[in-house]
Amino acid sequence: MYAFFNRTERRTLNAINEFTFIQYETPEAGIARIWLNRPETANAQDTRFLYELNAAFDRAAHDENIRVIVLAARGRHFSSGHDLGEKNWHAAMHDYPTVGTMCGFTCAGAEAQMAREEEIYIGFSERWRNIPKPTIAAVQGKCIAGGLMLAWPCDLIIATEDASFTDPTVSFGVGGVEFFNHLWEVGARKAKEMLFTSDALSAQDALRLGMVNQVVPREALEEATLVMARKCAAKSRFALKMAKKAINGAQDAQGRDVAMQNAFHLHQLAHTHWLKVYDFLMDPTGLPEATRKALGIKLGDEA
Ligand code: ZN
Repeated sequence: MYAFFNRTERRTLNAINEFTFIQYETPEAGIARIWLNRPETANAQDTRFLYELNAAFDRAAHDENIRVIVLAARGRHFSSGHDLGEKNWHAAMHDYPTVGTMCGFTCAGAEAQMAREEEIYIGFSERWRNIPKPTIAAVQGKCIAGGLMLAWPCDLIIATEDASFTDPTVSFGVGGVEFFNHLWEVGARKAKEMLFTSDALSAQDALRLGMVNQVVPREALEEATLVMARKCAAKSRFALKMAKKAINGAQDAQGRDVAMQNAFHLHQLAHTHWLKVYDFLMDPTGLPEATRKALGIKLGDEA
């Protein structure tokens, strides 16, 4: 079961100097490509994984020679979401330099969880959404929950025919992932269906709804993504920045950012609720049995 942690002294901060779960490369002039490289877990995201990814995005953002950033994934699946099996995830927040302005990562009550999620979940995803350069996600296989929080912040998405997109969090008693962008991705009615049913959205449905730009055979994903990246990279870096800021700003003028903060606070209420009921961040009765076993959670009627 979920065990509370002790306050720990802030340790020496571990700036990301080398990558374990991420690969960074510049396949062509003007294009940076970031690989999610933890295929043995279907690119599950723990604290180090997310700080490495953030460092990779920062490297590409700050490099004046880079005009377009590609986010791709090694292995069968784009990402299985947050790594629920990570140990000591609150203490782990003290291992890296904080990017946002929050603190209290190992405090009692709701404060620690909220601070962690403000920093590495909604905080990182919003930060990547607003990088002033075009970003393109190349998605194959499953993209689940936290996986959406890597693909959705990108400006363009190219998916393979077998790609699928799922937010199953309502099954676990939570109203949606922390980066609550569903409405802006697929419209209100489909967003509700995704959330209420936990059903996967197919690549073809995502294309029809405008959530992805292209659907291609799996073997064509890398080249199709580079073709798109080359077209963008041929344009003025400053013009690309202005076009992106204009569209992102229009979404926020429609209330996107305020609505997302509202949903994020409800998400925190859900965590606090389930901590009181089950001493766990979500409703374990909705988790697959294998996941419960892996986490060492036993329900009342389970031996
Ligand atoms: Zn959460």
